[in-house]
Amino acid sequence: MNIIKDLFLTYKGIKYYRDTLSKTQYYDFDKTRDLQYEKIKTLLIKSFNEIKFYRDLFQSIGFDPNSDFNSLEDLDKVPILTKKVARENQSNLINPNYADTSLEFRTSGTTGDKFVSYVSENQWIVEQGIVWRHWKWAGYNFRDKMAIIRSYVPEGEDEGLWKYERMRNFMFFSAYHLNAKNSKVYLNKIKDWKPKFLRGYPSSLYILAKMAEKHQIKLAGLKGILTASETLLPHYREKIESVFGTKVFDWYGQAEATIVFTECEAHEGMHINSEYGYCELIEDSSLDKGEYKIVATNLNNYAMPLIRYDTGDIAVVEDQNKCSCGRTLPLIKSIKGRSDDFLFGDDGREIPSVNLYTMMYKFDEIVSFQFVQEKEQEVILKIEGTNITNEVLDTLRNKMLKRFGRDMKINIDTSGDFILSGEGKKNPIINRLN
Ligand SMILES: [Zn+2]
Repeated sequence: MNIIKDLFLTYKGIKYYRDTLSKTQYYDFDKTRDLQYEKIKTLLIKSFNEIKFYRDLFQSIGFDPNSDFNSLEDLDKVPILTKKVARENQSNLINPNYADTSLEFRTSGTTGDKFVSYVSENQWIVEQGIVWRHWKWAGYNFRDKMAIIRSYVPEGEDEGLWKYERMRNFMFFSAYHLNAKNSKVYLNKIKDWKPKFLRGYPSSLYILAKMAEKHQIKLAGLKGILTASETLLPHYREKIESVFGTKVFDWYGQAEATIVFTECEAHEGMHINSEYGYCELIEDSSLDKGEYKIVATNLNNYAMPLIRYDTGDIAVVEDQNKCSCGRTLPLIKSIKGRSDDFLFGDDGREIPSVNLYTMMYKFDEIVSFQFVQEKEQEVILKIEGTNITNEVLDTLRNKMLKRFGRDMKINIDTSGDFILSGEGKKNPIINRLN
């Protein structure tokens, strides 16, 4: 997207926030449900009439949205769309009437199962409105200085590690090039520029926080920190907030754009953005109490509707789901991460990512890590940090053997060479056997 179009759609998003989203966030339960019902009804009928995948699917199950969809509960009649089925039917999920005007987004292809989602302009405007609302919750005002450690990768030698955009008063930094060694350069630049907000991947901001602590670099005047696109591990949040002396406002979404959860200034959990998508939290025997699968339907994207899409992510929900901020958008406690995020032990058993995060949390020397499994009975742990001694490596190795089993071949790679997606997003667990 060129910058003019980007700014134009952003402007329309801000207007959508002012006219609509700032009000709907206080709607009562029934009014929100009515709004969602109307939107889903339209979406189902359009999908039935205009998209091959849904026409075939609805016919095969004898579901006519014109007559068979009379309440939100009726959506249960439509089967859940798994990632596998969506990937196999990508081209048949596109609405040809929107093909020319829609925007294209690719999911990060680190694991090889790429997915291209098509987003209508209207959906993109809603997305910008939701982003704006989230920033407003964090206290942001137009042209507040924001340092953004993402969305920029220098091209060629003419471009440096950062780039200023005057229109919105953003300073973009390359997340792709950030590491423990050059972090001081980033930190000093940010310190001198004095932004009110930091925005970036949790793993990037964690590196900055760890290194700011080590070099005793203080960033004065920060009002808030905006994270998105990766799981915000509890120890990341803790470190980022304590070092930078301000709160994190996390965002959860997916490239498939089915639902967004956002954290408000009360910091009691994440609000479900009910105007963006319809979220179903579904119990599953494989999950612990209070954990649910996130299945969601985008309400505004007619270009490539994903109806009842199983995101593969897990939400943790508490009984108390009202937020003290007064907004009526429902609350979940946190995101537990992906249900398919695990590696295999020496005998083939699954080792959940959470187990590995807990292990890494104990190592204060480690600034960045990534587990990669490409072969059976073998795992690579890539790490970068400050003062990683042989003793640290031995402890790591022993802890890994305990989890993966004695027959596991363990390689620890300290070269700082991580597997990154295009813009520098770093998945902490890469399972290529899965
Ligand atoms: Zn709230």
